[in-house]
Amino acid sequence: MKALQYRTIGAPPEVVHVPDPTPGPGQVLLKVTAAGVCHSDFAVMNRPAEGFPYPLPLTLGHEGVGTVAALGPGVTAVQEGDAVAVYGPWGCGTCAKCAEGKENYCLRADELGIRPPGLGAPGAIAEYLVVDDPRHLVPLGGLDPVAAVPLTDAGLTPYHAIKRSLPKLTPGSTAVVIGAGGLGHVAIQLLRALTPARVVALDVSDDKLRLAREMGAHEAVRSDSGAADAVRELTGGIGAQAVFDFVGAAPTVATAAAVAAIEADVSLVGIGGAALPVGFGQLPFEVSVSAPYWGSRGELLEVLALARSGAVSVHTETFSLDDAPLAYERLHAGLIDGRAVILP
Ligand code: NAD
Ligand code: ZN
Ligand code: ZN
Repeated sequence: MKALQYRTIGAPPEVVHVPDPTPGPGQVLLKVTAAGVCHSDFAVMNRPAEGFPYPLPLTLGHEGVGTVAALGPGVTAVQEGDAVAVYGPWGCGTCAKCAEGKENYCLRADELGIRPPGLGAPGAIAEYLVVDDPRHLVPLGGLDPVAAVPLTDAGLTPYHAIKRSLPKLTPGSTAVVIGAGGLGHVAIQLLRALTPARVVALDVSDDKLRLAREMGAHEAVRSDSGAADAVRELTGGIGAQAVFDFVGAAPTVATAAAVAAIEADVSLVGIGGAALPVGFGQLPFEVSVSAPYWGSRGELLEVLALARSGAVSVHTETFSLDDAPLAYERLHAGLIDGRAVILP
């Protein structure tokens, strides 16, 4: 089969032919119908050879949707032909976090060498994907594969972050979304669907600011040195009750801190490598800063249900598997509005 692989440290990913995989005991083989392209893959590919966390070559893609093509021995929970989305942050399935469906926070995944597809295990940007256990599969329930696949990360990750902050997003409150890209443009819709908050989006690109408005942002503000003052002014000097930073670079975490209200939640979702100092006098009183990772299985079901209700729809740009390297190039150049989706 064809697959998009990261093969050589520092080189772009390549489309290659690899042997067709077969599902082992307990595993499920999917014919991939759509796979999303996440900015996190650049964080992986920018890692130096020394201490590179995964075996190479690595088939990329941690957002996947497909139809069940074959069942490994012992699998009865799904049937051939089922249309399913893949819950990506695989865990052990039995620890205290996994028992709650929070396999993203599995207590034993590292120790057991369990890795998500595309982030250690072979990923979804390929004709076929082996899924370790049918519990990682969620029925698509009629959703279109292209529209649904980004929900498994670009939807689930902001959903999880936003859900934590719902009690703070009361009528009259403000939520700030920094970075209206793959995750951010879904976050804006989620905030509109789940809260009465005023949503202020920040980005550096005019196209993304336009998309942010289309997705329901009440205000779209250029993310520059004047952004924090602009947001403060929009909130009558009080600041925002929740800030979601989908960039996580030094200038955006500085903006996040500068727009946070007293008792605000600041979620650093972007893995741009910057940190926020927490300590008395560093931030407004009682600001909570957190760095969440992906989301729970239950939350994925909720995100898909929201999409079925029409409350969220991902803006997508599709590419063939042969053109997958181009999708990465365009994402790197900031030229994808919404999410790039590969159709293997
Ligand atoms: P993306 O490239 O689709 O979107 C990033 C957006 O940020 C773009 O619209 C870009 O124009 C904008 N941007 C860049 N610099 C900016 C700045 N200074 N101010 C405001 N906006 C700016 O990326 P994505 O796939 O949506 O991922 C977003 C981030 O989230 C990445 O860092 C990714 O690695 C991370 N991520 C984290 C998790 C997690 O679980 N924590 C999950 C998925 C992705
Ligand atoms: Zn991702
Ligand atoms: Zn576990």
